[in-house]
Amino acid sequence: MSRALVRLLLLAALVVPSVSGAAATITILDNDGAGEGFNDPAVVAPVGGNPGTTLGAQRLNAIQYAANIYGALLTSPVAIEVKATFDSLPCSTMGAVLGQAGAHTTARDFVGAPVAGTWYAIALANSLAGLDLDPGVADIDASFNKDVGFGCALATSLYLGLDGNPPGGSIDLVTVALHELTHGLGFFTLVNLTTGAKSGGFDDIFMSFLEDHSLPNQWPAMTSGQRVASAKNDAGTLHWTGANVVASGVFLHAGRDTGTGHVQMYAPATLSASSVSHLDSALIPNEIMEPAYAGPQHNPGLGLEVLRDEGWTASTPPTTTSTSTTTSTSTTTLIATCSPTALGGCVTPAKTVMLVKETSPGNEKLKVVMKQLTSSVAQSQFGDPVGGTSQYNLCLYDDTGALIADLNVAKAGASCGTPPVSCWKAISTLGYKYGDKATTAEGVAKIVAKGGDPLKGKVIFKAANSLALGQANLPTGIAAQLLNDTQATVQIVVDDGGCFGQTVTNVKKADGLLFKALEP
Ligand SMILES: [Zn+2]
Ligand SMILES: [Zn+2]
Repeated sequence: MSRALVRLLLLAALVVPSVSGAAATITILDNDGAGEGFNDPAVVAPVGGNPGTTLGAQRLNAIQYAANIYGALLTSPVAIEVKATFDSLPCSTMGAVLGQAGAHTTARDFVGAPVAGTWYAIALANSLAGLDLDPGVADIDASFNKDVGFGCALATSLYLGLDGNPPGGSIDLVTVALHELTHGLGFFTLVNLTTGAKSGGFDDIFMSFLEDHSLPNQWPAMTSGQRVASAKNDAGTLHWTGANVVASGVFLHAGRDTGTGHVQMYAPATLSASSVSHLDSALIPNEIMEPAYAGPQHNPGLGLEVLRDEGWTASTPPTTTSTSTTTSTSTTTLIATCSPTALGGCVTPAKTVMLVKETSPGNEKLKVVMKQLTSSVAQSQFGDPVGGTSQYNLCLYDDTGALIADLNVAKAGASCGTPPVSCWKAISTLGYKYGDKATTAEGVAKIVAKGGDPLKGKVIFKAANSLALGQANLPTGIAAQLLNDTQATVQIVVDDGGCFGQTVTNVKKADGLLFKALEP
């Protein structure tokens, strides 16, 4: 261990106030080969309190720093080891898997197990048993994307500083590592979400806190078919019911059932690698355990409360007999839906109108109309939301370039009206349109995406809340974030297609309640 790393560990202790309760040792083990990943010898300057002098050393420092944050929060008599690598993971202009992690194995019916016949992540099982049930191997496997900022198409980079202050929309690695460590410590279900089957026929401790208001039972008592349906129930009724999350979630403005305090889990209509084993992306304010990176956070937030519900002993963070041979394959992904900074190379319209109206609570509107797309646009540039799995995101950036809103509309799965029909339809061979009067997906009511010859195409995106109609899906506070802004950038991004948008500079109103701007 280098002197620099020792200093870093002391620094970490100083900046985590609850260090007096520090009672878990979490060690990151470098599992990369010579000269790559954590051993990349490229010389770098110290950044944001990270004293490493090589790229590899800085990466390791940042991940260990995140481990130390958890080490100060959790109590465990058994040391926790994390086998980690920096590898190539999926990446495109639209997003990247920033990291993935899972428990190396799980255990049930060990001495001290609080609930019989139930799988626990091995680090938690060790902690509860008071001994290492699976000695000689690491407890968590984690990998991080080494291509972000180094040749992958996503227009961002990883920030390796330790101060939670990433510049220019870069992605904070400490935050990513905290997210991934939370998975490895137990934030995952072993249920096969395609078949609904339990792992080896046994419950896991995570699923024992899942319920769905549209179905009569908690997850353990559901049929496999019911679990499959619940995993894809986009109605916001898949909930975490654990007492610690319920008691701690009162600060949420959205994503929490106000009657019970249950908190929504991520269950998009189209199953993804992130389904169920994340908090819902509808939560406001954003939580670190949502599926997509949403800015630097050095506090695991409700992620820690989930771990506490499962049986971890933990302190409160500062405000800011059969050991299984089953190997967890929790390949959890963290996908940046809207890029933290506006994408380059999008198709630009000749005319844009952008309106955010939040003058009356519960009756908010968001409208973006982009006309006369300046280049020829093929239908494929709008992906395929009818037969495929395309997702549309409206990404708004303020006049400093910071991402302030990310509205997502998933593939067709969403069905609209009575009787229900797909919300998406093709517009001949020119594009697609989406209509949902109930505005179930983040308040989005209408999308028109139509291509064709130069100056013929258009993209329209409308979202709304009407509390009178029982709708409260549009994230609010966007106009407030644009108060006195001199410009804004709006982009419609299709995850497997193109992007469309521009910066609007002709601001008509920006009083915090209404933002209206045009281009030209
Ligand atoms: Zn509930
Ligand atoms: Zn995740």
